[in-house]
Amino acid sequence: MTSDKELARLVTVDPGLPRPNPTEAYWQRIPHALANVQSANLPSERDYAVIGSGITGLSVAMTLLEHHSATTVTVLEARTICSGATGRNGGQMTANAGEEYMHLAEIHGPQMAGKIVKFTLRNLQKMQELIEEYDAVEMSEMQRLKKLRVFLTEGKFNNFKESIARLEADHPSMKGFYTILDADTLLRDYGVHNSAGGALLPASTVWPYRLVTKVFDALLKKYPDRLTIETNTPVDSVEHNENFSTPITSIFPYTVRTPPGISSPNLRGRIHPFKGTMTVQDPGTSVPNQGTSVSWGFHYPPIYDPDTERHGYGLYYLGQSAKTGYFYFGGENARMDEAVSADDSFVSHHSVSHLQSVLPRFFGKRDNPPWRLVSSWAGIMGFSSDGLPLIGQLPLALTGRRGEGEWIAAAFNGYGMANCLMSGEALALMILGENVRDWLPGAYEVSEKRLQSILTPLEAVKALSSKL
Ligand SMILES: Cc1cc2nc3c(=O)[nH]c(=O)nc-3n(C[C@H](O)[C@H](O)[C@H](O)COP(=O)(O)OP(=O)(O)OC[C@H]3O[C@@H](n4cnc5c(N)ncnc54)[C@H](O)[C@@H]3O)c2cc1C
Repeated sequence: MTSDKELARLVTVDPGLPRPNPTEAYWQRIPHALANVQSANLPSERDYAVIGSGITGLSVAMTLLEHHSATTVTVLEARTICSGATGRNGGQMTANAGEEYMHLAEIHGPQMAGKIVKFTLRNLQKMQELIEEYDAVEMSEMQRLKKLRVFLTEGKFNNFKESIARLEADHPSMKGFYTILDADTLLRDYGVHNSAGGALLPASTVWPYRLVTKVFDALLKKYPDRLTIETNTPVDSVEHNENFSTPITSIFPYTVRTPPGISSPNLRGRIHPFKGTMTVQDPGTSVPNQGTSVSWGFHYPPIYDPDTERHGYGLYYLGQSAKTGYFYFGGENARMDEAVSADDSFVSHHSVSHLQSVLPRFFGKRDNPPWRLVSSWAGIMGFSSDGLPLIGQLPLALTGRRGEGEWIAAAFNGYGMANCLMSGEALALMILGENVRDWLPGAYEVSEKRLQSILTPLEAVKALSSKL
């Protein structure tokens, strides 16, 4: 078992810049025309520099442009456009409200827990609205369907049912959102074997890379003088120029050394990387194509194999392409040092063969040879010790710089499609001086109390240990 000392080392190690040679995600096989977009000359002065061209960066840039008629924005991306988690995820647009509610209510009280649930549900709805507004339903292959959450042990299923009961008691408007199903129904109606039970909830699936690139494309056309996107432009350091009355950021298109005395935002250990593995597998004709009606999540208690030192982290997730029948299947079975890693330039053979051996079993194909592997890749998620995103202004204690111009929206703990769009919107509105407290859960905000009490390397170690 990984020691706390080793965990502390892993969560605080310098993640470095995004690797220049990430594994190729199936979603990005046909690169968008904007994949390597850059201005002829990097603009030297912009009102806002947004670091990252995933769904959060898109949302921040879009909100800044739409809410202020003159503002100029540059999006800086270390690699190709949308090459981070958004371009390499599982394509699931679903909430984790049910599983998390009881825990959230215990820590934050029922009101805040309810606000978080409603925020994620509204975010998912807004994702669908965005897809429709930009006429991307077909090209992003969005499917409105039901998510089937399957629990592989009685213990997990009972905890889930208890959480749902509490959610419905505290927030009667949530009644009917989840439909609980027993193991026989899962087998009979969905062909799922060896479960303890499960639940259905409204959800959807999407091709996120196609969505994000399509919206960026439209924004570039709509705001040709106010928006630029600079790919292959890693930001290595941010300086506050004391001679200017307003904060500015200095942007470097390539790696530069941080000058002595100026430290980078010290978020290490407060947010840590977690590496995910995805596969695309072709079941041929061995199972029906349910890609227009359901996607799946399989929950199990975390496991540890002392011989291989590999952990199973408790969740597999999958969707099926309505067009090809391919399964997009992800989940982790890896050593801790492989999992708490920011390196998406390789995918472990073990993780891939594990995903290949597990998937057919869920559909009762235990003795069949593995299904054809179409693609496999790795992606990096940001995790926080309290399991919640960080949205707001970065204080001097974290940046080590004076000035009030640095903001963050990060750490979506594996549920970005349910959080990023509105988190980016909230951040941009906060930057513009608007009050978003009515709808942004206070528990997401960057507060001194949160930074002192829960968002610490020690708590990150505790949170990781508790999941093992
Ligand atoms: C394997 C995997 C499966 C997942 N499955 C799902 C799922 O099915 N459903 C779901 O809801 N969520 C899922 N997630 C999580 C979800 O994808 C993320 O939470 C979400 O995409 C985060 O979006 P983002 O824009 O904040 O970050 P990203 O999409 O990671 O964008 C950040 C960008 O910033 C760039 N960048 C970073 N540092 C610098 C720098 N210094 N200079 C310039 N650029 C920089 C990166 O290259 C990257 O492109 C999954 C994640 C992974 C990795």
